[in-house]
Amino acid sequence: MTTSTPADPLVERMRPFGTTIFTEMSALAVRTGAVNLGQGFPDTDGPPEMLAAAAEALASGANQYPPLAGIPALRHAIAAHEQRFWSLDRDPDGEVVVTAGATEAIAAAILALCEPGDEVVCFEPYYDSYAASITLAGAVRRPVTLRPEMGGRYEFDEAALRAAFGPRTRLVLLNTPHNPTGKVFSVDELALIAELCQEYDAFAVTDEVYEHLVFEGEHVPLATMPGMRERTLRISSAGKTFSCTGWKVGWATGPARLVSAVQRVKQFLTFVNASPLQPAVAVALGLPDAYFTEFNARMRANRDHLTAGLREAGFGVFPSYGTYFVTADIRPLGGTDGVEFCRSLPARSGVVAVPTQVFYDHQDAGRHLIRFAFCKRPDVIDEAVRRLKS
Ligand code: PMP
Ligand code: GLN
Repeated sequence: MTTSTPADPLVERMRPFGTTIFTEMSALAVRTGAVNLGQGFPDTDGPPEMLAAAAEALASGANQYPPLAGIPALRHAIAAHEQRFWSLDRDPDGEVVVTAGATEAIAAAILALCEPGDEVVCFEPYYDSYAASITLAGAVRRPVTLRPEMGGRYEFDEAALRAAFGPRTRLVLLNTPHNPTGKVFSVDELALIAELCQEYDAFAVTDEVYEHLVFEGEHVPLATMPGMRERTLRISSAGKTFSCTGWKVGWATGPARLVSAVQRVKQFLTFVNASPLQPAVAVALGLPDAYFTEFNARMRANRDHLTAGLREAGFGVFPSYGTYFVTADIRPLGGTDGVEFCRSLPARSGVVAVPTQVFYDHQDAGRHLIRFAFCKRPDVIDEAVRRLKS
């Protein structure tokens, strides 16, 4: 008797998810020697105080399992940071949990809160792990499209957002400042989302990993809107704010019942992580305001520099109000398909970018759009622009 071997052992629901675009494009950059403005990671180290604290922790025995919720010093630092910047009151014992990056917090939140068939309202283009985590949970995504409108600002249609809510809506997954568009959701937009969450008795899970990277307008956590604290789980991470994307130290904060739900799932995903890095992130979160304003100013200068360079190179560039990404329209350069464009860009120009169409369910809305990261040294941005212009 012969047994047939299925071509792909992967569970069916995960088969539509290939290798992430970030992995594909970073590998392409390494293979071709192109300047990598694709995957969002800085090329400069974070604050020296943080790095020294990590080295010290590593050398002084902080190398075994930390407590499930995270070490007390870090939980206190997370709570103090939320109080300092966003006036949110958190009990470090019960309203804060440390996770393996924001990615684990997002996955654990969705797995913890969604029954199969429950619906998750999100905005597209969405960060790629959202779709995968929703699918892993057996939940259904209800994407609302962000489109560049007047002046290039990405907007959504209020009627489309209202239509995305229904009796099966379990939660809204909101990323602001928004990757990849650089959109910063306005107070009016947040008020509408808050109103709908309350009308449909839905939770909100907010991804605020770019909370310190707003260049125009202000960052407002949805949890601070009237009626939202009790139904919002706020997620962030050290990766972006402290230029340590490889550390994977993230957190979720919110009312104890939501944090507890996340913790009960996360204990079976990773259990815990990053023992010697936790005290170091606690140090970083407590740095004076000057650290945060200088970091923001540096990234704003990079944004201006890259935006101008991309315009000179002939792209249609949309203003980036936050994050460390800027999106561009390839049609002025004769491009029609962002995936094709980005796959051939290293050979043509020696630069790597990321096509954003892979972050949409309605791919036509993003077919002509690509994303560049500007969390790079000015000379690297210069070199990328020089190559793109030629
Ligand atoms: N959310 C968004 C919007 C991101 O851009 C990223 C990427 N870095 C993450 C979550 C993941 O964060 P972490 O590396 O802390 O898991
Ligand atoms: N968040 C990073 C970005 O958007 C990539 C993270 C990853 O590679 N998964 O570019």
